[in-house]
Amino acid sequence: MHFSIPKGGQGVTTALYPGSFDPITNGHLDIAARAAKLFQKVVVGVYDSPAKDLLFTTEERVDLARQSLADYPNIEVEPFSGLTVKFAEKVGAQAIVRGLRIGADFEYEREMALMNKNLSPDIDLVCLMASLQYQFLSSGRLKEVASLGGHINDLVPKPVAEALKKKALIST
Ligand code: ADP
Repeated sequence: MHFSIPKGGQGVTTALYPGSFDPITNGHLDIAARAAKLFQKVVVGVYDSPAKDLLFTTEERVDLARQSLADYPNIEVEPFSGLTVKFAEKVGAQAIVRGLRIGADFEYEREMALMNKNLSPDIDLVCLMASLQYQFLSSGRLKEVASLGGHINDLVPKPVAEALKKKALIST
């Protein structure tokens, strides 16, 4: 049987974990930390202009991610704009990491992965399953709960809880 997939063997060393991170949550941290065990280097790419209403500026999102991931020597945080695959190429990543929660994430990631593969065939998608305790956690839901006065301190790193407080989304 003949396979047309070229032989590799060097192993994947750098991965890009892209997202909006508005703001970074413990669910994101869990994925980034697990990716940092699998890859020599992980670049957390903070997307400049996602098609979402943002609470934090790009600078704030990068800053919060950097503070939250400061203990991981092989994780870097960088902002980016434009195509994710182009940024992956720029930072020398051979893989894009994403986190999968419930079913909807899978459909979205599958479509995006096919488009990205078309744009940049050498870069592969690696999806990590969200840990059980973070399956329900999204930045959007977090902001909603925070704005309604719900307790979110155990869902986000400390700098994020502080930043939400400053944005007056938490009263305590
Ligand atoms: P995007 O706008 O690109 O979806 P997000 O910041 O919402 O950016 O998410 C970035 C990545 O992290 C996505 O792959 C998303 O599925 C994943 N993710 C978000 N929240 C969680 C969580 N609680 N557990 C695991 N993965 C998550």
